[in-house]
Amino acid sequence: MRLFSVFAFICCFCSHEATAEDQPIQAFVIPHSHMDVGWVYTIQESMHAYAANVYSSVTEELSKVKERRFIAVEQEFFRLWWDTVASDSQKKQVRQLVKEGRLEFIIGGQVMHDEAVTDLDDQILQLTEGHGFLYETFGVRPRFSWHVDPFGASAATPVLFALAGFNAHLISRVDYDLKDGMQRDKKLQFVWRGSPSLKAQQEIFTHTMDQFSYCTPSQLPFSNSSGFYWNGVALFPNPPKDGVYPNMSLPVTKETIQPYAKTMVENIKRRAAWFRTNHVLWPWGCDKQFYNSSVQFGNMDPLMKYINQNSKEFGVTVRYATLGEYFQSVHQTNLTWDVRGSEDFLPYSTEPYQAWTGFYASRNVLKGAARRASSLLHAAETLFTRYRISFPDGPVAKDWALDKLRALRWAVSEVQHHDGITGTESPKVAEMYTQHLMEAMMGVEELLAALFLLPHNPAFSSVPDSSLHEKGVDEGLEQHVIIYNPLAWNITTLVNMTVAFPSAAVYDDGGQPVPAQIQRSARSNASYDLFVVVELGGLQNRKYAIRFSETACSEQPGCARMYAAKGVAFERRSVKNWGKKGRRLLPVLSECYKLMFDQDTNLLHSVTYLQEKRRVRVTQDFWEYNANGDVKAGPISDNYIFSTNGSAVRAYKAVQMEIIPGKIVTEVRQYFYREDSDKDYAYSITTRVPKCFGAAPQCQRLEQTYSLGPLRLNTEVVLRTASSLKNNQTLYTDDNGYQMMRRTYRKFSNNTLARNYFPMVRAAFIEDDLSRLVLLSDRAHGASSQADGQLEVMLHRRLWNNLAWNLGYNLTLNDSSVVRPTLWMVLGSVSETSKLHQRAAIELQHRPVVVPIDQPRKPWQEKEPGLSSPVSPVVLPPNLHLLSLSVPGWNYSSAHDVHLSHVHSGKNLRSEPDFDRVLLRIMHLFEEGEDPELSKPVTINLKEVLQGVGEVKVLEERSLTGTWDIARLQRWTWKTADNLEKHNRPYRSGQDKDFTVTISPKEVRTFFVHFSSGSL
Ligand SMILES: [Zn+2]
Repeated sequence: MRLFSVFAFICCFCSHEATAEDQPIQAFVIPHSHMDVGWVYTIQESMHAYAANVYSSVTEELSKVKERRFIAVEQEFFRLWWDTVASDSQKKQVRQLVKEGRLEFIIGGQVMHDEAVTDLDDQILQLTEGHGFLYETFGVRPRFSWHVDPFGASAATPVLFALAGFNAHLISRVDYDLKDGMQRDKKLQFVWRGSPSLKAQQEIFTHTMDQFSYCTPSQLPFSNSSGFYWNGVALFPNPPKDGVYPNMSLPVTKETIQPYAKTMVENIKRRAAWFRTNHVLWPWGCDKQFYNSSVQFGNMDPLMKYINQNSKEFGVTVRYATLGEYFQSVHQTNLTWDVRGSEDFLPYSTEPYQAWTGFYASRNVLKGAARRASSLLHAAETLFTRYRISFPDGPVAKDWALDKLRALRWAVSEVQHHDGITGTESPKVAEMYTQHLMEAMMGVEELLAALFLLPHNPAFSSVPDSSLHEKGVDEGLEQHVIIYNPLAWNITTLVNMTVAFPSAAVYDDGGQPVPAQIQRSARSNASYDLFVVVELGGLQNRKYAIRFSETACSEQPGCARMYAAKGVAFERRSVKNWGKKGRRLLPVLSECYKLMFDQDTNLLHSVTYLQEKRRVRVTQDFWEYNANGDVKAGPISDNYIFSTNGSAVRAYKAVQMEIIPGKIVTEVRQYFYREDSDKDYAYSITTRVPKCFGAAPQCQRLEQTYSLGPLRLNTEVVLRTASSLKNNQTLYTDDNGYQMMRRTYRKFSNNTLARNYFPMVRAAFIEDDLSRLVLLSDRAHGASSQADGQLEVMLHRRLWNNLAWNLGYNLTLNDSSVVRPTLWMVLGSVSETSKLHQRAAIELQHRPVVVPIDQPRKPWQEKEPGLSSPVSPVVLPPNLHLLSLSVPGWNYSSAHDVHLSHVHSGKNLRSEPDFDRVLLRIMHLFEEGEDPELSKPVTINLKEVLQGVGEVKVLEERSLTGTWDIARLQRWTWKTADNLEKHNRPYRSGQDKDFTVTISPKEVRTFFVHFSSGSL
C-alpha cells in the first residue's frame, strides 16, 4: 500500500483548502499492450515474435510487486497463450492475479471488433466467445470496454456492451476537430444512449480518450530515444536472443529520473485540464508492448516512486491501475454527466485530408466471405441445436460437432478485428483470415451433411448458390438436395442453383412438381441457372429431387411447372449517341413493379411501384474515382483512407443488354464496356425481377448482382443509383445492422466528398415525402449521396501509392480480385418500406442453405431417421428475429456462486461441456414509433414458440453473452440531469412458469433454455 499511503498524506496535508479544481491530480497508469489480431503479421507470427512473451513476462512481473497492474484485452492471444504456452505454475499465478484484480480482462471479446463494417450478429458472437472462456476459466465477467483503435465509433456497440453488463465504455478515434472541441469543453466523458428506443435503459458511461489516445507520449525533450517504451519495439520474425530490441528508451537512472518525471508530470497535467475530475487516465503502452515486462516495470517503478515522493512539488500522484480502478474513482465523484443521444462517431477523419472512409469498401471479397461464413454458422448452430434436442443419442458425435462449430465461431470472431474485415491488413494476413474461414466452413459443411445423415462429401459448396456439376453423367440423372431455412419465419422464396444441364424438372418430398425456371447462366456458356420456388417453415428443411435432361423437358409430369427461359439480346449502345435517348422504353413487369429500360442507352430508366402507381426515375451505372498514387502530388487513397482529386467519372463508353423474360423471374443483364469496341465488359449488373408466388412479399425485392474487376490501378468504383427523389442529399445507413442512422450531407472547408461517405453494413436508403429507395446488402460497403436523388455505393477499390509507410507494411491495397456483391433494391412508400426493410435485410443475409445429396438414393426413401425428415416449424412474429439458437457447450453452472466455488476449488476444470443448455436470443427489429403495428412490444410464450424444437422445461434470462443471471446484474448508475429510468427494468425471473416474455422495440433478450431430453 505504498502508493496509497503517499496519497493519503498528500490529501491530509492539503485538503482543508483544496477545491475540486486544485486538488492534486491523480494519474492512473494503466499498463497495456495493443495486440492486433492480424494487421501486418499473422497471428502465428505475432505469437512467436511478441504476444506469448507479453503474457509470460507480465505474469512473472506482476507476481513480484503487488502494486503492478495489467489489462488484458484481445482474448484470442490470451487464450492461445493459455492453451498452448502457459505452464501450470503460470496458470496458477494468473488465477491469483485475476482474483486479486491486478490482471483485469477488458472487453473480453476474442478481438477488439471494428465498429463500422461489422454486423451485430458477429459483434455479439465474438464477445460471447471471449466471455464464455473467461467466465468458465476464471469466473470473471468483464465490465469495461477499451475500444481504443476502431476507426470511428458506432452507436450500436455501446448498446451491446450495456446489454452485456458493462459499467463503462471507452472509445478513442473520433473526428480530429470534434475531439479538439470535446477536450476544450471538458466533454470527453458523457452518458451515451445509443439506441433511440432503449434510451436510458441501456445507456452507458463513455470515456473518449484525449488526443494522446492509447499510446504513451513518445517524445522525450531531453533525449533522442522514445519515451516510456523501455522494452523497445517488437522484432519480427524472431525475438532477439540477447533481449536487446530496437528503440529501447533511455533507462531511468539517477541522471535521467528528474527529466523523466518532469516530462511525465507535464503530460499528466496537460491531460488533466481536459477532464472534469482530477483523475487522469494515463495509458502506458502502445502496439506490441510489454513483451519484456521486466524492463518496463523495472524502469517505471522507480520513476513513479520518485514522482510520489515529490508529489507536493509536482501536484500529481501516480499509481498503477486497471481500467476498472480508474472508472471506479470517476464513478465515485458522483458528478452529473451530459447525455449523448443515438448519434454515432462515423465517419472518422484524423486530419483535413485523412477521411477514413475508404476501408468501408476495402477487400470486398473478404468482407463477403466473412458474412457468408457467419450465415453458414447460424444455419449450422440452429440445425445442430434441433438435432441435439431431438436425438440426444444420435449418431453425430456431439464433441466432433462442437469442434466444427467452434472452429467456425472462432474464425468468424477473429475476422471482426479492426484490421480484419476492415480490409486494412497486409495481403498475407487477408489470406490467413480467408484460409481460417474456408477451412472452418468446410468443417461445418461436413457437419451439415452428417446432421442430415448424408454420405460424407467434403467437396460441395452450399452457400449462397450451389453448383451441381455432374458432367459426363447419363441422361436422366436425378439429383437430390436438402434446402434448409435458417430463419424462424415461414418463407416462400427463390433458390438459385448452378447446374450443368439445359433442362430439368423439380419435385418436392411428396413427389409433387415444383415451379422452377432454367436458363443459360450469365457467367458461363456451359452452365445453367436453375431457379426453384421453395416454401419452408421456420427452421425447417425439405428435400427436393431434380431430374435433369439434355433435351427439352416435355415428358415428365414436372415439365408443366418448369419454364425454360430464353434471352433476347439488345444491340450495344454507345454513350456518344445518347442525344437520342428516352424514345423507346421497354417494360419489365412484375406484380410489384414496372421497370422501364431505355433501348437507346440500355440503362434502367424508371421504376413504378404498382401498389401506389407511383413512378420514380431511376438510373443505375458505374462511376470511377481516380486516386492519386504519388504522395508528392497530394493526398493519397489507401486501405484506410478515401481521397480523390475530383468527382467520379463515368466508367464506361457503351452498354449492352440482354433480357431473359421468365415466369418465375425475369433477368436483365447489363454489360458495361470501357471502350466502344472492347470485346470484354468491365462491369455488369444482373437484375432479377421475381414474380409474386404465394403471399410473401417476394416481388418487392429486385435482386442485383454486380461483377467488377480486376480494376485498373488506382480506381475506386461506385454503383451510382440516380433517382428523382428529392432527398436533399440526406442518406440513411445502418450502424451494424442494428439501427438506421440519418446522414445529413455536410459541407467542410475541404475534403467534403470523402467525409460524406458512410458505412453501410446491411442497408442504405434515400427518401422524400412520398417514396423511399432502399438498398440492402450481403456485405459492407461505403455509401454516399453526392447529389440530390443519388445513392452511390462503393463496391471495389484497387490502389497503390508510394508512401513509405504503406509500402513498408504492404498496405497499398493492390487488390486485383473480381468481386460479385449482391444488393436487393426495394422501392415504395415510406410506410410500406418501413415494414419491410429490416426483415428483408435478414432474409438476404440468411438465405436458404442448399445441401446437395452426394449420391441420389433410389428409390426415394420414406421416413428416414434424422433431420432429413420434415420437422415442425419454429415461427416468430414478423417483428421478432431469432438472433441465436445454439449449444455453446460451456461447462459452467448457471448459478454464479456454484460456479465460483468450483473455479476457486482448484479442481480440474476440464469437465464435460454442457450440451443440454441452449442459448437463445430474440431481437425486436423495429424502433419505437417506426410502424403503427410492428413497433408494438410483442408478447410470446416461448414454450409454445419452441414447441417444434422440443419441450421447454426451464427458461433462465441471461445477459447478452450469457454470463449473468439478468436478475442479479446490477450495472453502475451514472447521474444525468434528466433522471430518466435507468437500465434494467424488472425482468421476468427464471421461476416464472408461464414462459411468457414481452419484447419491446430494439430489445435483444438472451435466455438459457433447457429442454426435456429426447423431445421428439
Ligand atoms: Zn489495432
